[in-house]
This record gives sequence, structure tokens and C-alpha cells, in this order.
Amino acid sequence: MKDVFSKTLLPYVIAIVLSLTVTGLIIWQTNANLLLLIAMIVIESILLIVLLSVLYNKYVKPIQKAASTINEITKGNYSARFHSSASEVIGELSLKINSLARNMSEISMQEQMQSEQLSTIIDNMQSGLVLIDEKGYIHVVNRKFISMFGKDVKDYRGYLYYDVLEVEKFHEAVQKTFLYERNIKESFTLRQGVNTIHLEIIGAPIFNERNMLKGAVLVLYDITELKKLEKTRKDFVANVSHELKTPITSIKGFSETLLDSGLNNEETTKEFLTIIYNESHRLQLLIDDLLSLSRLEKDDFRLVLNKVKVKELIEEVIPALKHKAEKKGLVFTVDADEDMIMKVDKERIKQVIINLLDNAIHYTPGNGSIELYLGHVKDYIHIKVADSGIGIEQNALPRIFERFYRVDKARSRNTGGTGLGLAIVKHIVEVHDGKIEVESEVNQGTTVHVYLPK
Ligand code: ADP
Repeated sequence: MKDVFSKTLLPYVIAIVLSLTVTGLIIWQTNANLLLLIAMIVIESILLIVLLSVLYNKYVKPIQKAASTINEITKGNYSARFHSSASEVIGELSLKINSLARNMSEISMQEQMQSEQLSTIIDNMQSGLVLIDEKGYIHVVNRKFISMFGKDVKDYRGYLYYDVLEVEKFHEAVQKTFLYERNIKESFTLRQGVNTIHLEIIGAPIFNERNMLKGAVLVLYDITELKKLEKTRKDFVANVSHELKTPITSIKGFSETLLDSGLNNEETTKEFLTIIYNESHRLQLLIDDLLSLSRLEKDDFRLVLNKVKVKELIEEVIPALKHKAEKKGLVFTVDADEDMIMKVDKERIKQVIINLLDNAIHYTPGNGSIELYLGHVKDYIHIKVADSGIGIEQNALPRIFERFYRVDKARSRNTGGTGLGLAIVKHIVEVHDGKIEVESEVNQGTTVHVYLPK
């Protein structure tokens, strides 16, 4: 206020005081009347008051208002406005201040939106993220990071990373990023209760415009599924090699013996040749199953869907299996809605029925019974294969669809099983968008239900 007074009014006041003094001096020098002198002073004083009040209203008051509006804006209150038409200059000033406030408000809204978008993206990332400054203080951690390492955002933000994170490999990753000033990659395992998760961490340094290191951003990927797949692939290769090795060793051994000992003894020769034949048959079954699986797993695999009558399907599949079952002394019954039409890949569904019935025959001792049911429930075709065989233990049930999994390895091999039958069945059912369920009780029997969309 003092400032405004000194800058805007002081010159006027000085001018009026000077003019008053000059007037007084003139009157006094010219020996004018004292009354006239007083009258002059009074008039000039009134003029001074009027002038001061006009100046105050026109400049001081609006400038004060403008100053307080600017004060509000600098405090972040962008809705503050200032209106005045006291003078042209002040009017223009008010327009400028209001437009500045509007612009600031827009910029701040945009900034807020962008920062909200950014934090939504960061929080919804499927990978963990942590931002560390050049001194090692954590600035940002996202939701996924919290789900990986536990605790809460407030337990990390503002703390030194090595004070709040105990994982050695994480420390290494941060240190290497700072040391080499380039992207680095590490992987490690983390215990989460009873589970172990595999993580890959990628550290990237952050530079400012003068190319000085300002911190690092570290992204953590959960590669547990990938590791599992890698293990499945490795196990699969090991299993295939093992499965192939057994018959090949046998074929090689018996043929070598035959070659060494000559073919003198007809009976032994026949016996050995039978073994060689059986083993090569086993090899063929194994290779056929492996090929079936690999065809089903191909990316461009397409089902050949056709309308198939149940009667037709049964006529093509059942006779050979019925013969096999009856040869083993099993009672074989078929309960099928023969007129029902199914829209399926006929050859694949035939394989499902053959594999399931084959298992039922293999794992049911003589005098037992086997039943095939083919009907429908609601919108699904229902294929059921039930046997009164040896059954499967409950803890083994979830694993029987795995490749090469056998509850009893020796028994499965003796029956000529490849260990791939149910894996193939499951694949075929899944590519038909169907589902498969198994119920079993040891020494009571097993029932497999297959549901396919109509
Ligand atoms: P395999 O060629 O060994 O029969 P599968 O994939 O068809 O391979 O079956 C996997 C395992 O599940 C079998 O080794 C067997 O232990 C068990 N299994 C499958 N079907 C039956 C069944 N009907 N009764 C008892 N066990 C079964």
C-alpha cells in the first residue's frame, strides 16, 4: 500500500503541495488579502481530496485487487478472477490476468490428466516397476511390484532401496545399471509363501538433458509360466528319448544276438523275431501318438467338422474293440442314441473313443465290465466310458492327462500303453471346445465323461 502510494500518488501530492505553496507565496508577495489566501488554500485542499479519492478508486483499488488475484493464482487457485473497468489500462490488465488464470487452469488440468493416465498405466502394468533416483531412493513402485515383494507403497517410497529390499540380485541389478549406465538383465527366484516365482529384472538408466545419470527404472517380469513351459519341453524331450530308447535297445540287442549266433535254432530265432516285431510295433505306436500330438498342437491346426451320425461312428469303432474286450473276458455294453447327429471332426472323435475304450480294456481285469454311453445333456453331446477296473488313486487323477504320466509304469508298458493316450484325448476335446472329467475309485473302476458342444 505504501509502495502504491509512493509510486502513484506521491507525485500528485507533491505537485499540489507545491502549487499551494506557490499560490501562498504569490498572494503573500503581492500583499493580497488574507481571506483570499485562506479561501485559496481551502479550495485547493478540497481539490486535493477529490483528486486523491478519484486516483485511489481508479488505480490503487484495482491494482490492489489485481495483486491479490495474482497472489491467489500463484498459490494454485486457478479459479480466481479479477474484473474491473476503472480505466482502459486496468480493464486490459484484468483481461490478461483472467486469461492467464484460464490458461494455467487448463495446463494444470492437462497435467493432472496426464499424470493420472501415467499412474493408471504404471499401476496396471503386468510387470513390476520401481523408479530409483541417483542416490538410491525409491520414488515409484507399482501395484504388481507390491504383489511380488509384499508390504505397502508407503513402505518403499522415500526409502533407500537396499534398506527396504533384501533380494541380493535386485541390489546387483541396481548397482550394475548405475555402474555400466546401460540396460542390464538379471533373473532370480523369489519365495512367496509356499510358492517360488521366477523373475526377470531389466534395469534401464535415466539421463537428464545434459546426459547425466539421474536414476534408474527397473522392470520385473514374472517368468514363472515361461520357466514351467521350458521345463515341460525339457521333460518332454527327455521322456521321448527314454521311451524310444527302451524298444530300440531291445531291437538292437536281439538282432545282434541273432546275427552273432546265426539262425540255427528256429525256435529261438522265432522268439527273438517276435520280440523285435513287438518292440517295433511299440515304436510305431509311440511315433504315431507323437505325430498326432504334434499335429494337434500346430498353430494352423484346423478341425474338419462334419455332421456325423452316432450309428455310423459306432459301426466303425466298436467291432474291433468289442472283440478285444470279449477276448479278455470283459462284458462290453454300448448304450447310444444311434440317430443322434454330432457336428465333430469324425476321425478325431473316433480316436477319443478308441483311446478311452482301450484304457478301459487295459486297466480292467477279466470278468469285469465296460460301458460306452453316447447321448446328450443340455447343449452338450455326452460320451461316457465306464469300467469296473483297477481305478486311479485320487492324488494321481489330476496328472493322468500329462504326457507320459502313468500311475503304474510297468503295468502301462506291459499293456502296450504309450503314456500319451489321454494327453491326445484331452487335446482333441479342447480343440472341440469341450471338457473332460474323470471319476475313479481304486478297485471299483473309472468313468470318463467327455462333453462336446452340439
Ligand atoms: P497309457 O498309454 O499308459 O494308458 P494314457 O495317457 O492313456 O497312457 O493314460 C495315462 C495313465 O492313466 C495310465 O498309464 C494309467 O495309469 C491311467 N489310466 C488311464 N485310464 C485308466 C483306466 N480306465 N483305469 C485305470 N487307470 C487308467
